[in-house]
Amino acid sequence: MKSLSADVVICGAGIGGVSAAYHLAARQGIKKVLLVDERPPLSLTSDKSTEAYRNWWPGPGDTMVRFMNRSIDLLENLAGESDNFFRMNRRGYVFLTADPKKAALMEQTAREISQLGAGPVRYHQGRPDNPHYSPSPRQGFDPQLRGADLVTDQALIQKHFPFISDKAIALLHPRRCGWLSAQQLGMYLLERAREHGARFLKGRVFEVAVSKGRIEGVHVQTEDGTTRISTKAFVIAAGPLLKSVGAMIGIDLPVFNELHGKIAFNDPSGVISRDAPLMIWTDPTVLPWTEEERNELAGSDNTKWLLEEFQGGVHFRPEGGPGSQTVLALWTYDIKPQEPIWPPVFEPEYGEVVLRGMGVMIPGLIPYLGKIGKPIVDGGYYCKTRENRPLIGPLPVQGAFIIGALSGFGIMASMAAGELLGIHVAGGELPDYAPAFLLSRYEDPEYQKILASWDAASGQL
Ligand SMILES: Cc1cc2nc3c(=O)[nH]c(=O)nc-3n(C[C@H](O)[C@H](O)[C@H](O)COP(=O)(O)OP(=O)(O)OC[C@H]3O[C@@H](n4cnc5c(N)ncnc54)[C@H](O)[C@@H]3O)c2cc1C
Repeated sequence: MKSLSADVVICGAGIGGVSAAYHLAARQGIKKVLLVDERPPLSLTSDKSTEAYRNWWPGPGDTMVRFMNRSIDLLENLAGESDNFFRMNRRGYVFLTADPKKAALMEQTAREISQLGAGPVRYHQGRPDNPHYSPSPRQGFDPQLRGADLVTDQALIQKHFPFISDKAIALLHPRRCGWLSAQQLGMYLLERAREHGARFLKGRVFEVAVSKGRIEGVHVQTEDGTTRISTKAFVIAAGPLLKSVGAMIGIDLPVFNELHGKIAFNDPSGVISRDAPLMIWTDPTVLPWTEEERNELAGSDNTKWLLEEFQGGVHFRPEGGPGSQTVLALWTYDIKPQEPIWPPVFEPEYGEVVLRGMGVMIPGLIPYLGKIGKPIVDGGYYCKTRENRPLIGPLPVQGAFIIGALSGFGIMASMAAGELLGIHVAGGELPDYAPAFLLSRYEDPEYQKILASWDAASGQL
């Protein structure tokens, strides 16, 4: 058995663990940070994401808006110092509806989220005296772009997004949002961490030594045997495997996993503008089928469900640089807690359903149906708490910490999450949102009361 020692051992080199390593080594000046993963860094969940970010988060309270604003501040700083190495843009998210009732709700939600600190709402109702609305630039991130624009003028929607169904009557465009290259971000953080002494060890953490309620060491199975790492600090950053690593120190972490897929397809006719923001059709949807297809699907109990109404939420963004025809699209129409397995198994119809759902938002895609082959489907697990908020901070074993339950927001939250973890480990003044992410929050009877009416899909697209 080999022996090593480290000031901090991090289990998991997804974006959570990598950001923790960066903050501990490069920001907190901790000398011997050891990042352990049985897979190559960023390869389990963190490279399957849509790579999008937003400060547009619902309540209760303003915690998530403040947390994400902080994370985006830090991302912008990194983009600034690195000549935008990870290609952060600020195209925004665009929520669309064809339903007048939903349009009214959109306005209400916009006001509420704006009041939580996400920036002002600007209204565009087609009157000539209204302030000018225009989509965000394709590249770069203008820090002045904040808040959201609410457009309730069909002609204005069509003018800017002619490929969107002309049934859309309202559009809400939050601006401090966009996407980036998560892989490039992760590699940038990892390199900076390495420059400050952090090291990577390929292997599986299979046992954690705890003595008298304190972390004593970590056992890792590597290709050439077992390594024992003597350490007083252990950070769990195991993504969808959080629960199994928590069990190694006797803690039953209150998390579960949901499988989320995404598709990639080509748009050779250029139906969708390559400058488009991330766009979301919020209305429930019946998929477009031909009469013949409908009859065939109706004939079998296995396929009838494809004729039913699906919940709203299909969304997409263009992917890739000049010359790319790729579009990424997602739809979480059927989500349930499940045990993770790899490779994940997606419903065979998933790609077809998402593509057809896209046809409702963008009728110009309908001619592709049945002609462009099967879209590429991939994805991974959202590891979540029941109220869809992360777990960041100390655990009830001295020297043990967690950065996880990053659900569908781990890329956008990575910088604020890593920063918070770094302060918890190294000591220092905690930001005021820190208590909201502690495991110990569940011991508070008042929090338990609020939880009873809290939706696990809160803020989820
Ligand atoms: C389809 C999809 C779309 C998404 N879109 C977005 C988006 O647009 N924006 C956004 O912000 N987020 C998005 N996410 C979420 C984001 O990808 C995750 O929140 C994030 O990647 C989680 O990072 P992590 O570090 O917690 O976990 P992971 O990336 O899963 O990393 C955990 C690591 O721990 C390692 N590990 C586990 N157990 C052990 C052990 N015992 N020993 C050694 N190593 C171990 C694993 O090998 C793995 O590498 C999306 C996710 C999916 C699936």
